[in-house]
Amino acid sequence: LVRLSGVNKHFGDNHVLRDINLEVQAGEVIVVIGPSGSGKSTLCRTVNRLETIGTGEITIDGKVLPAEGRELARLRSDVGMVFQHFNLFAHMTVLDNITLGPMKVRKLTKKDAEAKGRALLDRVGLADKAGALPAQLSGGQQQRVAIARALAMEPKVIMFDEPTSALDPEMINEVLDVMIDLAREGMTMIVVTHEMGFARRAANRVIFMADGQIVEIAPPEEFFGSPKSERARDFLSKVM
Ligand code: ATP
Ligand code: MG
Repeated sequence: LVRLSGVNKHFGDNHVLRDINLEVQAGEVIVVIGPSGSGKSTLCRTVNRLETIGTGEITIDGKVLPAEGRELARLRSDVGMVFQHFNLFAHMTVLDNITLGPMKVRKLTKKDAEAKGRALLDRVGLADKAGALPAQLSGGQQQRVAIARALAMEPKVIMFDEPTSALDPEMINEVLDVMIDLAREGMTMIVVTHEMGFARRAANRVIFMADGQIVEIAPPEEFFGSPKSERARDFLSKVM
C-alpha cells in the first residue's frame, strides 16, 4: 500500500534519511522506534510530502507521489497525520475541526460531514464534546479528536508521530486503546512511539532507525526477543 524506494533526504549537510526502502502492506501496523534525531519524524513527514525528498520514490496504493501540484494534494489526503501536539485549530469547535477537511477536500456537504464527524466522535468516546473548544478538553481527549479528524478523511494510511508523548500518564491508555481498536479494524498505520507495550500488542513489524537508516525490521517478538544489531540492543536496554 505504501512503498518507499531509495528515499534520501538532506537538511543542508545533514543526511537525515539514508536510502530508505520500505513496503507496507494494507492493514499492517508498523511501529518505528529509535534514538532522538534518528529521522523518525522526518520519515513520517516525507510519506505525505510535508517534507520534500532528495532522491527516491514514494508510492501510495500504486501511485507515485509527485513533487507538487493537484495530484499531490489528492494523494496526500490519503495519508492521515496525528502529531505529538494534536495541532487542532484552537478557535474552532471539536466538530468543526473534524468537518473542515471532508468539506474542503472531499467535498462533503456540511450535513454529511457533521453526521460523519459525530459518528467518529462517538467511536473515540467523545460524543458529548462536539461543541467544545479544544482548550476545554484534556490532552488525551484532544488527541482522540485529532484521530477522529484524521479518520474523517478516510485515509488509506495514518502516520502517528509520538501521539502519546505529550500526555500525562493516565491519559496515554485512552489514546492507545483507540489506536489498538483501529489496528484491529484493519487500518494501515505507521506509528512512531516509545510505548513498547503498544508495539508488542499491535505491531506487525517493528522498525529500528538510527542515523537516518533502517537498521532492523522484524516482527515484535523477534525484535524484542533477539535484536540483531548492537545499536538496537543498546537502545532497548535504555528504554525498557
Ligand atoms: P525525536 O525522537 O527527537 O523526535 P526524530 O527521530 O524524530 O527525533 P527527526 O526530527 O526526524 O528525528 O530529525 C532527524 C534529523 O533531522 C535531526 O538531525 C534534526 O536535527 C534534523 N531536522 C529535522 N527537522 C529539520 C528541519 N526542519 N530543518 C533542519 N534540520 C532538521
Ligand atoms: Mg520526532
